[in-house]
Amino acid sequence: MALNIVMFGPPGAGKGTQASRLATERGIPKISTGDILREAVQAWTALGQRAKAVLDAGELVSDEIMVGIVRQRLAQGDVDNGFILDGFPRTVTQASELDRILERRDPLVVVELAVPDEELVSRLSQRRVCASCGAIVGRQSDTVASPTCGSCGGELVQRSDDREDVVRDRLRVYHEQTAPLVDFYSGHARFRSVDGSQLPDIVASAISEAVDSTGGATR
Ligand code: AMP
Repeated sequence: MALNIVMFGPPGAGKGTQASRLATERGIPKISTGDILREAVQAWTALGQRAKAVLDAGELVSDEIMVGIVRQRLAQGDVDNGFILDGFPRTVTQASELDRILERRDPLVVVELAVPDEELVSRLSQRRVCASCGAIVGRQSDTVASPTCGSCGGELVQRSDDREDVVRDRLRVYHEQTAPLVDFYSGHARFRSVDGSQLPDIVASAISEAVDSTGGATR
């Protein structure tokens, strides 16, 4: 059975880090819609040009564009054994469209990563990303004080939407548009909520156990 996973949670909950870890552990691709958009901005494609201002303001790109991106990505062969969607869906409309896209596929496992707001603002203002390999460096890492990436030596930079004013907007958008997904998925047999405020290794084990408890474990 394919392991089709959605991971959602507020900005700074650790979705990207945890989705990467789980993807490596289970041998399935991680699909991050935030990464797809940032790459499009970097390459200055038509999509990137439309999305840049939206990203910089911490708002959401339209459902129509996002559903199109995900539909196309999920049509590629590397998702046959499963995938982890990181950052999609972010609205109830996206979630309904995803159900339609996945109609004849194995059931979706949905993991919510829950972290209180106060913790998120301080985490995000200290977060840095590697401009070369995309590695994320957080507050708990010793390397956060260093200007270079511990993995590849690339330059560590702050994401433009990790500035405190933008972070507050992103949290507002999360509560208004994404938090309703908890209600949308709460009746779903394979919905699990994990406490993301613990140390990263503990969160990773909790996610792994949550996924296994749904009965769909690919290792
Ligand atoms: P992330 O890296 O997941 O925090 O995403 C960064 C930004 O990309 C978000 O603040 C949104 O502007 C945009 N974005 C990513 N995924 C979506 C989505 N599913 N729907 C709308 N906008 C998105």
